[in-house]
Amino acid sequence: DVLRTPAAIRDAERHTAHNYHPLPVVIATAEGSWVTDIDGRRYLDFLAGYSALNFGHRHPALTAAAHAQLDRVTLTSRAFVHDQFAEFCARLAALCGKDQVLPMNTGAEAVETAIKISRKWGYRVKGVPADQATIVVADGNFHGRTTTIISFSTDPDAHDDFGPYTPGFRIVPYGDLAAMADAIDETTVAVLIEPIQGEQGVVVPPDGYLPGVRELCTSRNVLFVADEIQSGLGRTGDTFACDHESVVPDVYILGKALGGGIVPVSAIAANSDVLGVIKPGQHGSTFGGNPLACAVAIEVVKLLETGEYQARAKEQGAYLQAGLQGLVGSGLLEVRGRGLWAGIDVDPDLMTGREACERLAERGILAKDTHGSTLRLAPPLIIDKDDIDVAVAALRAILK
Ligand code: PLP
Repeated sequence: DVLRTPAAIRDAERHTAHNYHPLPVVIATAEGSWVTDIDGRRYLDFLAGYSALNFGHRHPALTAAAHAQLDRVTLTSRAFVHDQFAEFCARLAALCGKDQVLPMNTGAEAVETAIKISRKWGYRVKGVPADQATIVVADGNFHGRTTTIISFSTDPDAHDDFGPYTPGFRIVPYGDLAAMADAIDETTVAVLIEPIQGEQGVVVPPDGYLPGVRELCTSRNVLFVADEIQSGLGRTGDTFACDHESVVPDVYILGKALGGGIVPVSAIAANSDVLGVIKPGQHGSTFGGNPLACAVAIEVVKLLETGEYQARAKEQGAYLQAGLQGLVGSGLLEVRGRGLWAGIDVDPDLMTGREACERLAERGILAKDTHGSTLRLAPPLIIDKDDIDVAVAALRAILK
């Protein structure tokens, strides 16, 4: 039989910008932790939409909510209130332990929202002189692709040739509290960091770093803004990666899994002393907080309220991390991670990260390289031990 995949890939490349370099897999259907391509081959999904599919593909509670809402009302704009809005906001705020949320669509938009709120808070509450606000960020960060956000990226691919750049950001080494303390001054309105750096290769900061950032922010009157877009909503074995060290930031930024893998939903959550600085007309989005998004996200929050997915991530995550640690010295140089989230460094003398992903795909495992020979593994939180065994065995085989 002639495979349909090569022609489908050629067709897909013809009329699209080449801003991605996808693996040669054309997915047609998906369920749970598995996807099937147009040639009927099955793959275990160890990327899970960069953690947007924490509950797996087409979780029944989430698709049911979407179907039901499609038959009622899908879009109103925020010019009016709709009947899913209050419950979404209340449940998400409660999950975050905050008073208020501000819904957007994509992760980058939510990061932009947090930057705007932090600056306005700086001018109106902290008393920073006009247009002087600074935000401290970390080397190796990934917060999205807008022109302001890439202005403080240290990844040349993300950053170069897209200037002129937005000023007002100070970059310090990730995990270095002394450098952060030095970078904060009276103009500083926020520290914006990922509690674990995902795109950088699932880089876990040293113990004590997040509590140290919390202390610095409190003592210097600076907002602690945690980008939990990839790390949050169960991935690490807790609702938020910050929970691991019992740290409560001033602002959570959420996205990805909040939309259940069905619709783009992002939000920031904070208390009203912070979010209250924004007044009608100062920020918004046509689609942010739309009825379909809210209906799905309500079910996402309900799934997280049970604690079941966080517990699964913890238990299955320990199993995955142990399996991966067993490969260190046999083709892997290092394994990092927390919960069902791992960064693995393949020995670059053996192959690149790209080659590793291609070989894994040939064996029915979907994963994606981040930088060089580093792969990020993030299966759906519903994955079971047998499927983890399948993936670890495939990895062992390709590293031989
Ligand atoms: N922040 C973090 C930590 C992310 O991992 C990502 C996406 O990978 C983003 C922000 C940007 O999200 P989006 O691609 O939805 O704009």
